[in-house]
Amino acid sequence: MSRSEILFQEAVELIPGGVNSPVRAFGSVGMTPRFIESAQGAYMTDADGKRYLDYVGSWGPMILGHAHPAVLEKVAEACRKGLSFGAATEAEVEMARLICRMVPSVEMVRMVNSGTEAVMSAVRAARGYTGRNKIVKFEGCYHGHSDAMLVKAGSGVMTAGVPDSSGVPAGATEDTLLAVYNDLPGVEKLFDAWGKEIAAVIVEPVGANMGVVPPAEGFLEGLRRLCTDNGSVLIFDEVITGFRLARAGAQEYFGVEADLTTYGKIIGGGMPVGAYGGRREIMEVVSPVGQVYQAGTLSGNPVAMAAGLAQLRYLDEHPEVYSHLGRLGETLYGGMKWFCAEQGLPCQVNYAGSLGCLFFTDRPVTDYASAKTADTKRFAVYFRHMLESGVYIAASQFEAMFLSAAHTEEEVQETLRIAQEALCRAFRKAG
Ligand SMILES: *Cc1c(COP(=O)(O)O)cnc(C)c1O
Repeated sequence: MSRSEILFQEAVELIPGGVNSPVRAFGSVGMTPRFIESAQGAYMTDADGKRYLDYVGSWGPMILGHAHPAVLEKVAEACRKGLSFGAATEAEVEMARLICRMVPSVEMVRMVNSGTEAVMSAVRAARGYTGRNKIVKFEGCYHGHSDAMLVKAGSGVMTAGVPDSSGVPAGATEDTLLAVYNDLPGVEKLFDAWGKEIAAVIVEPVGANMGVVPPAEGFLEGLRRLCTDNGSVLIFDEVITGFRLARAGAQEYFGVEADLTTYGKIIGGGMPVGAYGGRREIMEVVSPVGQVYQAGTLSGNPVAMAAGLAQLRYLDEHPEVYSHLGRLGETLYGGMKWFCAEQGLPCQVNYAGSLGCLFFTDRPVTDYASAKTADTKRFAVYFRHMLESGVYIAASQFEAMFLSAAHTEEEVQETLRIAQEALCRAFRKAG
């Protein structure tokens, strides 16, 4: 048995499913997870000393690659000054200033400890601000695991084949209205029916938790218009897309501004951090200024702020990171798309910048229902070949691939070659 297998056997006795987040389990591909020992740049090394070229990047945060020296140095410096004070620090002011400068629609921001918390708090702020209760969410979009958001919530839930979570009372989701991603007329109907009761529309500006589903032309613009016309708050959940698609995230990439934006992943530089921010008049409903209560003992933690600040500053000062990621995405995802077309394989490749996904389906993937037509058994064969060839991708058909600044054109070309082999394997062709 490998060291990973031994650790997993011990882990399942002590931790539900052996993992502290379900997406880390390899159940849907019929394997046991690799335990990771260390990571550097674009590579991770597991407990058995096997090295992988990593396309998960801790599910998004590691946009500069693992253990980036600019981040590590600042974290070490912060650690020496003390791990937590439960009091205000200068780093929090700097973090807020940087986010507000990088993202024009964000005038005020509150730091929290995870994406889940960011969304939960943003939704509460939107409800407090509007005095309304209903929220529109899209099938297949994941907004963390708070009760109201656990309706048709994408990847982790999707792979397990469980439509909803038990333990969530019906009352907690009765104000959550479901819509179909990219179906603007459907959202218009919801506004016709509920108009002045809708506090907010929350959306992933690129769906990245049902595989990758980019917004159709006019979709985000349409949501913007509907929210403005009805006095509802438009929330972009940029926990994945923020500071990834562009300096100012999806809002810059697509040219549509949100009223509130939620962040996580990248803004922590690998530490557990989230944030929500937006228009001043909305953010001023949050306590202690306003009546919407939201708090956090470790929020704005100095070590976490040091990591996040170092990474965001690097991104702010190195716009070439985004052109590099765009080129790599074109090579990798564009290359996969071309190969599938040339070989006549029933696959779809969806991508936006550094995010991409290969779906094993002959139908274009534009929403949750079309994503679900993917053949997860074929994906499992593909996944196994990738992993055994040293390419670490998410163990689920319904997750994105994440490129980082540490990946090179050569590494990506090699991955493309391995992906072609894996595809041939999955379709049992000589490769
Ligand atoms: C990961 C994710 C979240 C939840 O963030 P956590 O830090 O895991 O709680 C919320 N929204 C989106 C879009 C995400 O991808």
